[in-house]
Amino acid sequence: MEIMANRLDRGFYMYQKEFEDKALEVLRSGWYVLGKEVSGFEEEYAAYTGAKYCVGLASGLDALWLAFRVLGIGAGDEVIVQGNTYIASVMGITINGATPVFVEPDKYNNIDTTKIEEKITDRTKAILVVHLYGQASKMDDVMELAKKYHLKVVEDCAQSHGACYNGKMTGTFGDIGCFSFYPSKNLGAFGDAGAIVTDDEQIAKDMKMYRNYGSEKRYYNKVVGANSRLDEIQAGLLRVRLKHLDELAAEKVEICNRYLKELKNPLIELPEVQKNATTIWHQFVIHCKYRDELMNYLKDKGIGTIIHYPIPPHLSEAYEYLGLKEGALPITERYAKEVLSIPLYNGMTEEEQTYVINAINAFKA
Ligand SMILES: *Cc1c(COP(=O)(O)O)cnc(C)c1O
Repeated sequence: MEIMANRLDRGFYMYQKEFEDKALEVLRSGWYVLGKEVSGFEEEYAAYTGAKYCVGLASGLDALWLAFRVLGIGAGDEVIVQGNTYIASVMGITINGATPVFVEPDKYNNIDTTKIEEKITDRTKAILVVHLYGQASKMDDVMELAKKYHLKVVEDCAQSHGACYNGKMTGTFGDIGCFSFYPSKNLGAFGDAGAIVTDDEQIAKDMKMYRNYGSEKRYYNKVVGANSRLDEIQAGLLRVRLKHLDELAAEKVEICNRYLKELKNPLIELPEVQKNATTIWHQFVIHCKYRDELMNYLKDKGIGTIIHYPIPPHLSEAYEYLGLKEGALPITERYAKEVLSIPLYNGMTEEEQTYVINAINAFKA
């Protein structure tokens, strides 16, 4: 059997007619950028998250760097972020000229909130919280520190659409919640797309200005902005998927509950969900000391897996200039050698799940 680590066709065919009808509707409308599909999606996604405002953007990375831009955080400022994140989180900070200050992860793969305070200096302006792999971070600790030190909080929710902490949705704790709708995310478009959510009217207004060349009124440009507009066709297709997001999430929970119950191999560590948090299982990430052997073994059996992420940002070539060497973040670096995301996608059959479970349970080092 051949099982891909992730596949997006199944999720399309589940609602094929609805997607195709919407695509045709937009194509035939004659309006393709920033129209009623975008404003409709913004309203519906704000309502879904419980935030007051949503602003559609072209990607998750744009959401991140524009968030720091709008908050006025740049050169000379420091932003705290976990070491084991996707590099786009860090780029969101550094595109503005600010400096990332890395904190080690906890056993839930999120920022270890007990290690934040020691990293705060008089240059620290914000904490960027990443809800990695779909699980909400410890937001009560983060918000308490932010209050004590007067820091802004930006949430990277590219992997956590609908995940909650104490019943409140990720993206609604801090000043700005940043979302990606890249096709493989839990709420995925059919191309690139992103958004921010916020309760602050001024931030929402500024975002709308920045996404459109810094103009509120056509040809009157207040600031140097970006072209980060959300396409009508993506917004329309996102509205279709959003209607089904809860049932899509429930299906993933069911698959992961089976993994949690039936995966039994002393060589692997299963993911844990912390108290007060929920996960939407963007990825099902196991830890294994023999990760590379396991990956090759599964590949021989036709099972695809992915490493999220093999090179931590501080050791990537792009961030050589930060001067951080191997050993700077031992836990982050160990995770990069241990983590493995096993197959998980909407429309995964029981037979496929069983094949993966049996293969992993039979693995020997
Ligand atoms: C996907 C992702 C991003 C970037 O989103 P894009 O839409 O691809 O630009 C940022 N942060 C995290 C944690 C991600 O997973």
